[in-house]
Amino acid sequence: MSSVTVRVPAKVNVQLSVGPLREDGYHDLVNVFHAVSIFDEVVAKESESITVQVNGKWSDQVPTDDGNLAIRAARALAKHAGRTYGADLVIQKEIPVAGGMAGGSADAAGALVACNELWGLGLPFEDLMEIAGDLGSDVPFSLLGGTAVGTGRGEQLCELPTGGTFHWVFALADGGLSTASVYAECDRLRAASGAEVPWPQLNDSLMEALGTGDAYALGAHLSNDLQAAALNLRPELAPTLDSGRQHGALGAIVSGSGPTCAFLAIDATHARDLALSLTTTGAAHTAVAAHGPVQGATLV
Ligand code: ATP
Repeated sequence: MSSVTVRVPAKVNVQLSVGPLREDGYHDLVNVFHAVSIFDEVVAKESESITVQVNGKWSDQVPTDDGNLAIRAARALAKHAGRTYGADLVIQKEIPVAGGMAGGSADAAGALVACNELWGLGLPFEDLMEIAGDLGSDVPFSLLGGTAVGTGRGEQLCELPTGGTFHWVFALADGGLSTASVYAECDRLRAASGAEVPWPQLNDSLMEALGTGDAYALGAHLSNDLQAAALNLRPELAPTLDSGRQHGALGAIVSGSGPTCAFLAIDATHARDLALSLTTTGAAHTAVAAHGPVQGATLV
């Protein structure tokens, strides 16, 4: 096989509950991931060494050296297989960079699936999940897709059944937000308030809304503990969220660590209208309609 193509989705967190800061610097999370139809494509071609090229909208913001998560994933896979392998990875980037939609993790997951195939390793999904967990807490979900609850640092996953398709609009912001700086701001705000931080709990009403496919109930129960921190760092996101609500979004939240804003729509037509309203009113410079859940990293 000389070339393999894998498609990998972005994610939105429909619940992101952040526990107290642990001694190791991490937080325990209850993280409900939902894979949506904004895809990066990772092509792996036969080569002597492991390289990456990034094309598409945000390619200039993505490192092409060893800092690229797709390269790190390919190297980790080769190490796991105990051999030296090469692959030229070409990423077509559609997922916003540093946008809170796990674009880097998606590319890592894509590289794992593509190189497993290109190199004829035939490793089972469980092995890829284990390597993914070592690469980053969002990488296993990018492999899995669908809807799933992550606990621990987010990497211990349990799949969740959903009762239908949900329609979303994502308002993309200029420039990214670093996940680490948003967590740091969250810790700072919590320390300043002095309030005790509760242990994160899965929201049963949200689970029920996902299970029954009830978009109205899901919209009412979307939550993100990082939102206040992201809004503090990017105050201009607050009017974007308000504008989506005014145009009938069933729920409006910052996606993960932001700055992408996620709006839940009634159906596909409403999502298209909402995306148009957000851009024509200037509330967002780019708004993309998408749906979920979709499959994780998939060979095409
Ligand atoms: P998350 O939602 O998982 O917190 P994010 O969507 O906010 O992540 P990413 O798009 O994954 O953020 O990018 C975070 C940083 O990782 C970028 O600023 C970039 O420098 C680096 N990076 C490394 N490899 C990649 C990649 N393949 N694609 C995107 N960013 C990458």
